[in-house]
Amino acid sequence: MPKKPTYAPVTNKTKRCPKCLTSWQGTKIPDDVKHHYGNHTHFSKLIGIELPSVYDGIHHWKCPKCGEEFPRWMEDGKGNATKRMFPD
Ligand SMILES: [Zn+2]
Repeated sequence: MPKKPTYAPVTNKTKRCPKCLTSWQGTKIPDDVKHHYGNHTHFSKLIGIELPSVYDGIHHWKCPKCGEEFPRWMEDGKGNATKRMFPD
């Protein structure tokens, strides 16, 4: 079996697809509602996939452009990926 290429960890702060390099940055979030979005400055086009039978929340990510799926990583306060949330 060919091994799937390993991409850089994807978190909800990742701005670009590690595979097709498409920008995931959406439109700017208005300042007055920013606090509802964890103080992110822009919406993201990244798709969060939920698997209700496995986890209550986003389980992994999917690029809206190329369709590649990426594991979800935890991140620290600076947005650095720390550890993978789920095994394959
Ligand atoms: Zn992509």
